[in-house]
Amino acid sequence: GLLCPSVVRKNWLLLSTVAAVLAGIGIGVLVREYGKLSNLDKVYFAFPGELLMRMLKLIILPLIISSMITGVAALDSSVSGKIGLRAVVYYFCTTVIAVILGIVLVVTIKPGVTQKASEIDRVGSSPEVNTVDAMLDLLRNMFPENLVQACFQQYKTKREKIKDTTAVDKNSSIFREEPSTTATTAKASENKTQEYKIVGMYSNGINALGLIVFCLVFGMVIGKMGEKGQVLMDFFNALNEATMRIVQIIMWYMPIGIVFLVAGKIIEVEDWEIFRKLGLYMATVISGLAIHSSIILPLIYFIIVRKNPFRFAMGMAQALLTALMISSSSATLPVTFRCAEEKNLIDKRITRFVLPVGATINMDGTALYEAVAAIFIAQLNDLELDIGQIVTISVTATAASIGAAGVPQAGLVTMVIVLSAVGLPAEDVTLIIAVDWLLDRFRTMVNVLGDAFGTGVVEKLSKKELEQMDVTSEVNIVNPF
Ligand code: ASP
Repeated sequence: GLLCPSVVRKNWLLLSTVAAVLAGIGIGVLVREYGKLSNLDKVYFAFPGELLMRMLKLIILPLIISSMITGVAALDSSVSGKIGLRAVVYYFCTTVIAVILGIVLVVTIKPGVTQKASEIDRVGSSPEVNTVDAMLDLLRNMFPENLVQACFQQYKTKREKIKDTTAVDKNSSIFREEPSTTATTAKASENKTQEYKIVGMYSNGINALGLIVFCLVFGMVIGKMGEKGQVLMDFFNALNEATMRIVQIIMWYMPIGIVFLVAGKIIEVEDWEIFRKLGLYMATVISGLAIHSSIILPLIYFIIVRKNPFRFAMGMAQALLTALMISSSSATLPVTFRCAEEKNLIDKRITRFVLPVGATINMDGTALYEAVAAIFIAQLNDLELDIGQIVTISVTATAASIGAAGVPQAGLVTMVIVLSAVGLPAEDVTLIIAVDWLLDRFRTMVNVLGDAFGTGVVEKLSKKELEQMDVTSEVNIVNPF
């Protein structure tokens, strides 16, 4: 009744998330001022937030598998091919537009021209990446040689890494660490935690790309099997429903986790001064992200779907806020599903198929950021890029965004591909690491928004096929909520 108007009831999750963010900021600022926490205390303090991240990551595996398989199996294979193609075309075009926008902005604003690389503090160490290796790894990941292994690929725990910073990851050829020489050892131990962060960034626990490719094929095959495949259909539908119910349970915990994630981050950041030094660069990235998400993507959506894009974006608010808080589009996926299906009422046959793929390969924000960052670093080094190099940057930034996993700061690692492609020093990523955690949040938000608009666009373009499909396939989709 009066105490709980329907707006509140319908949006309690969103409202409590907003409240959690505000509470987190408040608590963070207070504890930072008066708390005098030791480094270990800070880890303990952020612990409830760590638990939220673990829960969200935990659910990614069953979510991707069950939603992809049931989504694809429910579609006729000719229809799923068409829908898939539309999704990929949309993803690709928006990514390229984002890259071009980034390049135009960084070339006009010139954030690196007034500064010298030597004026900015370097933090951590840079990974050594070979462009060809990185591209091959992208393909390799699509075909994992072992399905079980694909479920826990490239995973490293924090503790392990701090103890042994020179360990070499055998699973990934993208990432080759240089054995530290005596000259760099002192510097390395100084920045031990930072060094870990760079090394651990790409570890997402799951080879999502490989799983998606497999589930795509698997779903199509089951869909074609008819009667014989029914038992598998039923199994994965039930798995999907169970997964969605668990997601709902996690949602209850989410506000608590977010309070401590936000507060923990505010306490942890040591160097706010760097924000002033890199201010113009950050402004360039953020304005690019803002233009892309509030003008370009809505315009594309409006032109194709003919509905109010801002209402659509508002429907995604919970997912966008989550992305901003946890900087991982994969871990946001459960929330993205909920918003797209519940609030924006996108056909489940579309979301199940298009969202997991989007969270893995479609990263407009990351692509824009990579292009801006690479050219910014060139400017810091007083390097005039010719048109060929700028084209190279656009191509590699697009590829690097596709290759980046949807995990925190993955884009910073794949950045090195872009840098080395135009002969810029790979160790110069250390110039921008200090502010990356913040930019990461904004670009992840844009990544998620891009995926979401994609479902609306693809649904509209596929209206005819979806209506023509027989009703039986619709029955197979259980409503998880
Ligand atoms: N954190 C981003 C994401 O999850 C990837 C990136 O680092 O750009 O979408």
